[in-house]
Amino acid sequence: MERKVSEQLYSEAKQYFPGGVSSPVRAFKSVGGTPLFIKKGDGAYVWDEDDNCFIDFCGSWGPLILGHNNAQVREAIIEAVSNGTSFGTPTRAENKLGKLLLVNNRFIEKMRFVSSGTEAVMSAVRLARGVTGKSKILKFEGCYHGHVDSLLVKAGSGLVTFGVSTSAGIPEAFAKETLVLPLNDLLAVEKLLDESSHDIACIIIEPVPANNGLLLQTKEYLQGLRELCTKYKVLLVFDEVISGFRVGFEGAAGYYGIQPDIVTYGKIIGGGMPVGAYAASAAIMSNVSPEGPVYQAGTLSGNPVAMSAGFAIASQLLETGFYETMATKTVRFVKILQDYCHTKGYEVSFPTIGSIFWIAFSKEIIRSAEQIDPQSMAKFKILHAELLEHGVYLGPSGYEVSFVSAAHSDALLEAAAATICNAMDVVFAV
Ligand code: PMP
Repeated sequence: MERKVSEQLYSEAKQYFPGGVSSPVRAFKSVGGTPLFIKKGDGAYVWDEDDNCFIDFCGSWGPLILGHNNAQVREAIIEAVSNGTSFGTPTRAENKLGKLLLVNNRFIEKMRFVSSGTEAVMSAVRLARGVTGKSKILKFEGCYHGHVDSLLVKAGSGLVTFGVSTSAGIPEAFAKETLVLPLNDLLAVEKLLDESSHDIACIIIEPVPANNGLLLQTKEYLQGLRELCTKYKVLLVFDEVISGFRVGFEGAAGYYGIQPDIVTYGKIIGGGMPVGAYAASAAIMSNVSPEGPVYQAGTLSGNPVAMSAGFAIASQLLETGFYETMATKTVRFVKILQDYCHTKGYEVSFPTIGSIFWIAFSKEIIRSAEQIDPQSMAKFKILHAELLEHGVYLGPSGYEVSFVSAAHSDALLEAAAATICNAMDVVFAV
């Protein structure tokens, strides 16, 4: 497979951008080689600048649940753009999308649109602090919440750790406001809240942790967090930037039937345009400026083009049976992979929820970050290279999950599964 044009573009990009990219994972550092420069996507496929075609399981890291270049989303964007791109005023398009999202979600009453998932989380944490008057937050090791200063921290061992930043440029004083615990350990949360809840504004969790593998939690654990938060007067923030509108229209809140206090969204609600949102009860949201004292603003927030794209995507997700169909075909696809690898005796499993799946080079059920063996990433590297050669594109890191879209037909998934099975033979032959 020729990659000459991507290689040229990458060496040019390195002159302009740190690492040649606008976001780090894109640089292929963990899998090696040159990042592909994609010029076009349609349905389940993307094409790179060398005209190689790939079945895409990255889906722009999650937003493209309907696949690339969805006709309704495209038409909605074109229509919106023809009236201008930004006014800095309220628009009818915001009302339309806001109404659609709120009317069809039992867990939220009011929302605020922003322009990225990071912004949504940053604002949600400020809101939690503003509402409770407390300053510390608790997050979990292995959950990513965007590049918010106070959330770019990692945990040490199984004991509660005061945050140590995983990025330069974050004052120690900020990181200290963040407590970190391992996932899947309710007793640790209870112990911490028992000692320190007077200082803790919120617990933030990806209810479907999907940024460090797919660390699926039990419903009992999530329900346990809900109960502890209520008992100790700490707000529960569900970061649903990935799971929102992905595991169901009501996200993980609806999937598990658990009421969070604040929810963050991103990715899918922008239909591929830059959109995020945070939402809560009307009472909590009344604390947001200009109604309340928690300030938060944005020049491009509620951008009419992005709102129109969001409406076009969200209205298609409400079609009867949409999520059932997505889950059924994903399970069928994953079963082909799992059965093959099982028969061959390969140490690999494919955790899945809704239309998300992860390739884990382990047979254990993995529920916390420390269970992932970093050595297993060497296998992913081989798999990734082999799949690129044979026309299947996965996000370039073994810690990333993959996404099936509505445009991935059963036949296409069967073909992709055959390619992945062949690639597994290569991985395990090494
Ligand atoms: N929260 C979660 C759960 C995410 O997965 C992401 C992005 N992967 C973010 C927040 C940050 O979103 P964005 O990249 O749009 O800023």
